Amino acid sequence: TSAGGKQEHLYKILVIGDLGTGKTSIIKRYVHQFFSPHYRATIGVDFALKVLNWDNNTTIRLQLWDIAGQERFGNMTRVYYKEAVGAFVVFDVTRLSTFEAVQMWKADLDSKVLLPNGKPIPAVLLANKCDLASEGFLGNVNQLDEYCRDKNFHAWFETSAKENIGIDEAARSLVAKILEND
Ligand code: GDP
Ligand code: MG
Repeated sequence: TSAGGKQEHLYKILVIGDLGTGKTSIIKRYVHQFFSPHYRATIGVDFALKVLNWDNNTTIRLQLWDIAGQERFGNMTRVYYKEAVGAFVVFDVTRLSTFEAVQMWKADLDSKVLLPNGKPIPAVLLANKCDLASEGFLGNVNQLDEYCRDKNFHAWFETSAKENIGIDEAARSLVAKILEND
C-alpha cells in the first residue's frame, strides 16, 4: 500500500527445514536479538514480526512463520504455505542429513505455493550453526553456489543464530528479491 509517497509492505516469510537446524533460534535472533541454547520445540505455528526501515520511503513488515514442531513430518500443508512471498530453508552444517533434506523442503515448498505470476517464491538457503563448523563441511563454496543454481535458491548464507552471523544479510537479500517481484 502507499500513502503520501510512503510505501508499506507486509510479507509472509516461511522458515522451513529439519528439526533442530535452528529455525526458531534464527527468528529469535533476528527479531529479538536474543539467543538461548534451550528452546522447547513448541507445537503449532509461531509468528514473529520484524519491521525494517528499508529506505526513507519504504517500511517492510516481515511476518516470519516458524513451523514449530511439525517439521518432523517433513512437509507442511498448503494452508501453511498460502500467500507466502519468500522462504528461508535452513540446514545445520554439523548434520549432513539436514542438508540432504533441503531439496525435499524446497520441492515441498514449490509444489504448494507459487507467486501470483506462477513463478516459485524466492528462497534463500541458510547454512546455520557456522560457529560450530569444522573446516571442510561446507568445503567447497563453489559447490553450494552451483547447488543453489540447480535447485533454484536465490542465494545462500552461512549463519549463526548464536554468534549473530549472516542473518541480517540473508534477510536483506531475500527482501531485495521479493521487492523485484512486487
Ligand atoms: P529448530 O527446531 O529448527 O527450531 O531449532 P532450534 O532453534 O530449536 O535450535 C535447535 C538447537 O540448536 C538449540 O539447542 C539451539 O540452541 C541450537 N542452535 C540454533 N542455532 C544455533 C547456532 O547458530 N549455533 C549453535 N552453536 N547452536 C545453535
Ligand atoms: Mg523450532
